[in-house]
Amino acid sequence: MARTDSRATAARAPRSEGETAEIRTALQARRDELREEYATAVAEINSLRGDRLTDTAGDDQADAGTKTFEREQEILLANGILDRIGQVERALERLEAGAYGWCEACGDPIPVERLAAFPSATLCITCKQLEERR
Ligand SMILES: [Zn+2]
Repeated sequence: MARTDSRATAARAPRSEGETAEIRTALQARRDELREEYATAVAEINSLRGDRLTDTAGDDQADAGTKTFEREQEILLANGILDRIGQVERALERLEAGAYGWCEACGDPIPVERLAAFPSATLCITCKQLEERR
């Protein structure tokens, strides 16, 4: 591949204010959803810990082990949600800076629906499919 310079100079089609607002609304809705999921996961972790503290006397080792395992799984889940919240927040920052929502490979605007579904998407659908076929 000798010609890579054309994509660096590819003109970015400006997004309309309406589109930017639409993306912002979608990202904020996603962030709120994730925050709720996170709160639910944290409550679950706390309730599992509560169980373990109050029921230990009656539990045999296997039960205690299962609860520890469940709690670890919940913590992993909560951390995963936190990562996704971070991704959405970074996306919002980049959106405000005018640097969000363009395909990194071809420079085309990424469709609003795709950004709403995958806030961390950096490729348009066409380029993503090309990449997956590689
Ligand atoms: Zn593309």
